[in-house]
Amino acid sequence: MKDNYTQSELEKGRKLFAGDCDFIAGVTSLDNLLPMSLPEVAVVGRSNVGKSSLMNAITGRNSLARTSHTPGRTQQLNFFNLGDHLFLVDLPGYGYAKASKKKVAAWNALIRQYLSGRRTLQRVCVLVDSRHGLKETDLEIMKMLDEVAVTYIIVLTKIDKIKTQELDACKSKIEEVIKTHPAAFPYIFETSSAKGIGFDVLRAELGRFAN
Ligand code: GDP
Repeated sequence: MKDNYTQSELEKGRKLFAGDCDFIAGVTSLDNLLPMSLPEVAVVGRSNVGKSSLMNAITGRNSLARTSHTPGRTQQLNFFNLGDHLFLVDLPGYGYAKASKKKVAAWNALIRQYLSGRRTLQRVCVLVDSRHGLKETDLEIMKMLDEVAVTYIIVLTKIDKIKTQELDACKSKIEEVIKTHPAAFPYIFETSSAKGIGFDVLRAELGRFAN
């Protein structure tokens, strides 16, 4: 996977995520969405998939997780500014069993509007727990992304928790599924926030879009 990126892409990604990363806005309605002043990448995933841990690991910080787990911030789009080069957007957790139908519908509406109207949005990372594979809610967000034609990558989380054979099986299954999803990037990214695996590659991939 690393071979897909040049040394300068890896270096650009490393520098970008090692630089400033400031929480700049929590958006609950499209009326207060930020201007499209920078290229943007977003991260989405089911609750407990390891999104906060991944946000921390990719930026090498501990404070971002606190930000996204702060009560009241779990239902909003959290915008981080990476040194005026790129916006990193933490989309609220979806598919949360305890959420009411009404809340899920409101989430869907907000996310769909955001995704369909955001010209500067370059990539969405759909996080998938490597132990569980794709769930119905993942397929829903993938379908939504296909419909609005926003390219996305599948990023496996917690790969330290499974054996190599299990990881291979999980990837094969997902590879079959993403063949039928037009906006899905063909490669699957593998990460472990606990062990710090896979972030050089992910930084390089997302760093490609930075100013
Ligand atoms: P979020 O709800 O998606 O933000 O998920 P969190 O980042 O809070 O992670 C949920 C749980 O999974 C926590 O107990 C984390 O410690 C654990 N976790 C997250 N990433 C990893 C990982 O890479 N490896 C392991 N072993 N545990 C992880």
